[in-house]
Amino acid sequence: MSNVRTARVAVIGGGPGGYAAAFAAADLGLDVVLVSDEPPLGGTCLNRGCIPSKALLHVAKVIRDARQARTFGVTFSEPSVDLAALRAHVGQVVSRMAGGLSHLAAQRGVEVVHGRARFTNSRELEILRPGGERELLRFQEAVVATGSRPAELVEVPAGSPRVMDSTRALALEEVPKRLLVVGGGYIGLELATVYAALGSRVSVVEMADTLLPGFDRDLVRPLMARLKRELHQVLLKTRVTSVEDDGEAVRVRFAGEHAPQDEEVFDRVLVAVGRRPNTEGLGLENTGVRVDPAGFIQVDAQRRTADPAVFAVGDVAGPPMLAHKAAHEGKLVAEVLAGRSVAFDARAIPAVVYTDPEIAACGLSEEQAKAEGRNVKVVRFPWAASGRAAASGLSEGMTKLIVDADSEVVLGVGIVGSGASELIAEGALAVEMGATAEDLRLTVHPHPTLSETVMEAAEAFYGMATHIYRKS
Ligand code: FAD
Ligand code: NAD
Repeated sequence: MSNVRTARVAVIGGGPGGYAAAFAAADLGLDVVLVSDEPPLGGTCLNRGCIPSKALLHVAKVIRDARQARTFGVTFSEPSVDLAALRAHVGQVVSRMAGGLSHLAAQRGVEVVHGRARFTNSRELEILRPGGERELLRFQEAVVATGSRPAELVEVPAGSPRVMDSTRALALEEVPKRLLVVGGGYIGLELATVYAALGSRVSVVEMADTLLPGFDRDLVRPLMARLKRELHQVLLKTRVTSVEDDGEAVRVRFAGEHAPQDEEVFDRVLVAVGRRPNTEGLGLENTGVRVDPAGFIQVDAQRRTADPAVFAVGDVAGPPMLAHKAAHEGKLVAEVLAGRSVAFDARAIPAVVYTDPEIAACGLSEEQAKAEGRNVKVVRFPWAASGRAAASGLSEGMTKLIVDADSEVVLGVGIVGSGASELIAEGALAVEMGATAEDLRLTVHPHPTLSETVMEAAEAFYGMATHIYRKS
């Protein structure tokens, strides 16, 4: 006879979607059990995603900044990297944050059950515990927050020790001499940045005609220029056609416009071609939940599935697969469960690629505006005209606003440059608040800062940015 628990709310998955939902539900007075199949809370984001990658990107930035200091007349010797110490540092960052989450769960009275959950019907989960025993959890409502996993490529042999997904790449087993990154998206470029700084000769192969196909081209251009200098090669409009591990190295063939004719040899290959939602093995067939052809759970604006007792948030509920989107949805669902009349209506979900330079955007992009035939005016402020950027060697950056030409409301913001990840928050607030270019222009920004580029881009909308001149 299985042990039977009961709870008002069952949350499946301890990532940013799941723990945000569970914590908020508890804060709102609901009785919550969170089921997680891995002991540390934090999910992909904390354990093998956002946080370890940013810890490594910080190290990469320190190395590159030290190298760039040469241009200011300051020279450091080349770094020597103690991989074991670096791995330990990243591990400590992750475990400190995971410990904090467990503590926060306990303080709130959120019961965390370690095991793999599967629906037996719309009101009951079976939990397979690590020791093999089974428990039942009966609930009134469930929140599915089971996240996603790396997509695989059929051309790549399974089980090769030299072919990595992002989880293995973050484990930093070694710094390969020659690394091939398949996929010029978020993960491919962030990890290419890390490995290049640590000393690998990195090649990136991307099937689209640009890196980061979801971002406006003018935002990607400065990054592309930098990567062309710092990576061995960036192959666009190119696909991998065969990957063979000969026991010592990986032999790769390519096809496409700029593809190398001959086979190339690498010490490691990182496959970063997207992620797939975790919906298999969840027993969704025992509920009324519906899944779309790509495997994402279909949800409405309150993140309720086709089964009225089941909600879904985060990566499993559809793109964008970003931690802050997952957390926002998790908190929203908690409010819905507490009886509040709320729905997901964010106008801007910022997207940030933490490369060097960083790329950040929110709201409407210029390319989207064009495709939709919107009457917008796009204004740009080049960081070459910013005193702070010049002082810090960051003149390659650019800030742009996509503004409704009639109402002057700011619909979108794009930034490329160091620190874009922090600067975009002002853009997100502007878009969310329905601010006009006038609001941004009239907000006094501190000098000298990169944030002034947002204000001056807004001034450019009125043809009067102090530090750029355009004859009308
Ligand atoms: P997850 O974080 O994937 O958590 C799901 C959890 O559910 C996991 O612990 C999983 O083991 C568990 N689970 C699955 N099935 C079951 C089951 N049946 N029973 C019990 N538990 C189960 N996003 C950003 O916004 N910023 C970044 O900088 C960023 N960097 C990233 C870097 C990398 C290398 C990767 C891979 C991702 C990155 N992401 C980033 C994406 C981000 O990690 C995800 O969007 C986010 O983790 C999604 O949260 P989630 O709660 O939906 O799912
Ligand atoms: P991605 O969708 O960002 O990029 C995948 C890239 O691979 C695309 O550019 C695609 O055109 C390319 N591609 C697909 N198949 C290919 C093939 N056969 N050959 C060559 N190129 C191919 O996916 P990702 O980089 O794996 O990241 C997954 C998701 O994780 C992201 O979409 C994002 O939602 C999330 N993430 C976010 C961050 C962040 O917020 N900074 C960081 C990492 C991951």
